[in-house]
Amino acid sequence: MCTDRGVAVNRPALNVIGGERVPALSGRMRQDLAPATGSPLREVADSGQADVEAATAAAASAAAAWRGLGVEGRRTRLLAWAAAVRERAEEIALTDAHDSGTPLRTMRSGVGKGLDYLEHYAGLGLQLTGHTLPVTPDNLHYTVREPYGPVGVIIPFNHPGFFALSKTAPVLAAGNTVVLKPSEETPLSASLIAEAAEGILPAGVFNVVQGAAAVGQAMTADPRLARLHFTGGVRTGLAVQEGAARSGVVKHVTLELGGKNPLIVFPDVAPEVAARAAVLGMNFTRNQGQSCGSTSRLFVHDEVADAVTRRVCELVGQIRLGPPERESTEMGSLVSLAHQQRVLASIQRAADGGARVLQGGGPDEGAFAGGAYVQPTVLDAVRPEMEVARQEVFGPVLSILRWDDEQELLDAVNGTEYGLAAAVYTNDLSAALRIVRAVECGYVWVNTVETRWKGMPFGGYKNSGLGSEHSLEEMESYTRSKAVSMLPLQ
Ligand code: NDP
Repeated sequence: MCTDRGVAVNRPALNVIGGERVPALSGRMRQDLAPATGSPLREVADSGQADVEAATAAAASAAAAWRGLGVEGRRTRLLAWAAAVRERAEEIALTDAHDSGTPLRTMRSGVGKGLDYLEHYAGLGLQLTGHTLPVTPDNLHYTVREPYGPVGVIIPFNHPGFFALSKTAPVLAAGNTVVLKPSEETPLSASLIAEAAEGILPAGVFNVVQGAAAVGQAMTADPRLARLHFTGGVRTGLAVQEGAARSGVVKHVTLELGGKNPLIVFPDVAPEVAARAAVLGMNFTRNQGQSCGSTSRLFVHDEVADAVTRRVCELVGQIRLGPPERESTEMGSLVSLAHQQRVLASIQRAADGGARVLQGGGPDEGAFAGGAYVQPTVLDAVRPEMEVARQEVFGPVLSILRWDDEQELLDAVNGTEYGLAAAVYTNDLSAALRIVRAVECGYVWVNTVETRWKGMPFGGYKNSGLGSEHSLEEMESYTRSKAVSMLPLQ
């Protein structure tokens, strides 16, 4: 039944295995909640190892025929699927908004971008080329790219619809089949996206298994899923590597993990420009700071620090909380009450350690008091050794650190386990290039923040991950290279 502006609130979200919507084999269901209100949204299949085995078997048996369709056959079907998802895009975005607490505007843009990626990768098949190599003059030596077969994709809670589309598109376009596990916090859109594939993608090409960590563990352990993509936290990523190693087969694992990204402001930058970049880069109004790319450490030069800090506080003070489904909402709730408590505890520890809370710092005490809201928070007087400057908070918390010595700045910038992204603001080209060379991370923005461009590889150094995405490189990583030397029969 459709209610509440098009969201099917009381139809259960089931697994999609072999083209069929099926409950968990155990019959277990659990209740999915809206974090902004605590109200029930839908029942969701609570799956386990047996369901992963069924989905993997379906993906394995669909693999040869999907590969056999060739580039053009897959492109046609993926584009038809994209069109079917597009017809339901508003429903999917609204579902994600209710399910995650993030504003509809962000989720609508995420689903749109996910569809862009799906269409983009669908058309990239012909780019998956090999080489001919002039190894010997009279023979043919060449390489050819081949898909793995069934691939496991495990995604986090923060961009559910976007990730369900964008992280599986290169896998499928390269000729593999998929077993997708969404986060138990935001499970709903993956089932809707899979339903949209009915009658378009052959049965078993795109499977969704709903459930908690046990589902991810079973995928990691299954020897048939020799290729895995994981996006999530560092500790879980390490567990995935360990589980993969214990599976008994050598697995190729891509890890897109957390970030504690710096935004470095040089003294030649106007405070207004720096402050706007800091607020935008923290993703307060996109998804409450729950984004791996957030520039959560603002390193601002002493000369402009007071002016920038003042303006950041004014801008952050103007951000208004609201219900996620409302068009005008600037900031919604965090993904769960448990996550709200983690973020609030982290702010408290920072304050106990000497950070000054200039803005926010608490839950909402007004109209949204029961929901998982955290006020947009600005911390000043943060020092590099503090936990809040070293560990990802994954919430609306911006830490300000002041600098005047470039070497000390770089030591602090690189002094965390993370290495996802960094931003630098300056009009001094030499300074920008020095920072670009010195920062230990996989992506650097100069005079911009947060934007990702299709075609530009995005991925982390150090504990921020392994491999990259949004690029041809990502699609190639879902293939193996076979080398062939062909000689005449003597
Ligand atoms: P988690 O690491 O908690 O979970 C990620 C996914 O892994 C979820 O589907 C989760 O299931 C599943 N999972 C949990 N335990 C295991 C396990 N032992 N084995 C296999 N899978 C498991 O991350 P969050 O969902 O909390 O997401 C936030 C994190 O994701 C942040 O650290 C963020 O930086 C990172 N991230 C990185 C991005 C990047 O591109 N680098 C992009 C976006 C987010 P369940 O939720 O059901 O427990």
